[in-house]
Amino acid sequence: MPKKIAIIGAGVSGLAAAFKLSSGEDRIEIFEKSRGLSGRAATRSKDGARFDYGANYFKVESPELAELIFEDLPTEDLCRIAGNVGTFDKGGAFSEGDPEQNAGAKWSYRDGISTLGKLMAEVADLDILPSSRIVRIEKCQTKWDLIDGEGRRYEDYDAVLLTPPAPQTTDLLRDSELGDEATSDRILNALGESQYHSQFAVSLCFPGAIEMPGDCYALINADREHDLAWVSHENAKAGHVPKGESILIAQMSPSWSADHYDDPAAEIIEAALSAVRSVIAADLPEPHWSDTQRWRYAHPRTPANLAELRRALPPGVFIAGDGLVGKGRVEGAIRTGLDAAAQMESYLTGEDGA
Ligand SMILES: Cc1cc2nc3c(=O)[nH]c(=O)nc-3n(C[C@H](O)[C@H](O)[C@H](O)COP(=O)(O)OP(=O)(O)OC[C@H]3O[C@@H](n4cnc5c(N)ncnc54)[C@H](O)[C@@H]3O)c2cc1C
Repeated sequence: MPKKIAIIGAGVSGLAAAFKLSSGEDRIEIFEKSRGLSGRAATRSKDGARFDYGANYFKVESPELAELIFEDLPTEDLCRIAGNVGTFDKGGAFSEGDPEQNAGAKWSYRDGISTLGKLMAEVADLDILPSSRIVRIEKCQTKWDLIDGEGRRYEDYDAVLLTPPAPQTTDLLRDSELGDEATSDRILNALGESQYHSQFAVSLCFPGAIEMPGDCYALINADREHDLAWVSHENAKAGHVPKGESILIAQMSPSWSADHYDDPAAEIIEAALSAVRSVIAADLPEPHWSDTQRWRYAHPRTPANLAELRRALPPGVFIAGDGLVGKGRVEGAIRTGLDAAAQMESYLTGEDGA
């Protein structure tokens, strides 16, 4: 008999899990608190431009990801990013990047990196409930119910997959019924081992062309002592920037972002512009538009305790997302979603012996 599955979060990990599970007969519903798809693999549009203001690119290094990206999903809109990632130090001095790091191809899509999430949803015809923030899960007999922020109840799921960043999953599970207090504590402690950095991403659109040092696509701060962690040129991605303009994405360092988290947007933009000038060119013109994003949970800096989670989670509850990897990477997050889908399949068919 077909089962009913709930997936919380329509980022790349949740969508990859749903994509894989959709080849069977089970009914899958995806609950997403925002209006859009793809989570931190995010794209915005402005004045004819598209820019990736979360994950800037993804790599395809594992066979699972290669199969998904190059075989299961359409490839016409994929764009391979030209140019290397160089480095700069605390004084802004440029060096060539790590050749090993630069060896692999870097990818986005012509319409932006969020196309990745959108394609998974489109190709598998996934059932997504946007603007649905789940605040609690409850066990009802052998099944699970979900409750959203408006108090609506969604009933009778055979399995639930949670994919928000680990601190948000922790909040959700803290208010949920997972079993006795000791079990709950084990789960929350295991998840709590995954801590996240916050980060500002500032997008700056300039008139005219900008030359990047060493003809790089992006520069990363190697000694982690600069206020700027990363700056990249969206023009290196086909289809992103209208002719005659340049867009730079500046990501401020985690420590700078934490110290300035509540500063007004205008001050964040001013600081990002001055940091970018110190690394690229002191005479960069004033941007004709700019845009900021405060990512509260940008990247995990430590992983959750996956082995303990697997032991402690009640039957039917699964977790995925980059908090399990401890590193903010699209590929890593997708792989956790594919792993979770495989575990859910064997749980739902009784093959795991549960
Ligand atoms: C600034 C920045 C730069 C980055 N650069 C790169 C890069 O260059 N390359 C790279 O590979 N990776 C990069 N990353 C990391 C990459 O974006 C993430 O690792 C990956 O997108 C995580 O996917 P996910 O599905 O685990 O989580 P998310 O994308 O966070 O998805 C989780 C989803 O759950 C939703 N959600 C949360 N709580 C609830 C709830 N209660 N109910 C319903 N829905 C909920 C969220 O809205 C979100 O859509 C970057 C990230 C940031 C922020």
